[in-house]
Amino acid sequence: MEIPKFLIERYQFWKKNTFEDYKDIYQQASKNPQKPIAMIITCCDSRILENTIFGGSVGDYFIHRNIANIIPSKNDNDKNIQTLSAIEYGLKVLKIQNLIILGHSNCGGVEYSYKTLLDKKNINDFEYINQWTSCLQNSFNNIPNDLPEIEKITFFEQENIKQSIKNLREYDFIDKLINENKLNVLGLWYQINSGLIKILENNNSFIDLD
Ligand SMILES: [Zn+2]
Repeated sequence: MEIPKFLIERYQFWKKNTFEDYKDIYQQASKNPQKPIAMIITCCDSRILENTIFGGSVGDYFIHRNIANIIPSKNDNDKNIQTLSAIEYGLKVLKIQNLIILGHSNCGGVEYSYKTLLDKKNINDFEYINQWTSCLQNSFNNIPNDLPEIEKITFFEQENIKQSIKNLREYDFIDKLINENKLNVLGLWYQINSGLIKILENNNSFIDLD
């Protein structure tokens, strides 16, 4: 096993600087159970720095990441265990009241899914990704044919967020929390090059957050 140099250097820097600056917060955090202010479900993409964007400190955000920030439908019951177990823990145990689905521009998972659903010839020999991105079939079906090609991927990224919120309501324990106003669900789409965030309004259209 070789420990990469960047890992050691960055860890040492963090320990000497950031950790020292926030030592009290870390120590306090270890004494009490976590009490996050929100759960964020986002993509595995390395360009999404949700804690930076939303000023996260220790214990603020309970994070789940998967390829293309998908919440599978209840019908995809062989694919939803990991995401739903994270949600179940966040809502039932941690009693989180804000659930944020944070999608993004330039999403490789959505783009791959678009290409493969459009033409099966584009499919790669991926043992797991192909099963996972098949969860996006419903969102794909909603892409308008007359949309300019360049806008279709963005539409698909945003449609996936809408569909994920609809899928959440298929799960009784989540639907109940929403109906009782104990859970606030937000759909956000983040544009990497501009830093713009759009929010889904009334599960209908995306408007600028600021
Ligand atoms: Zn992505």
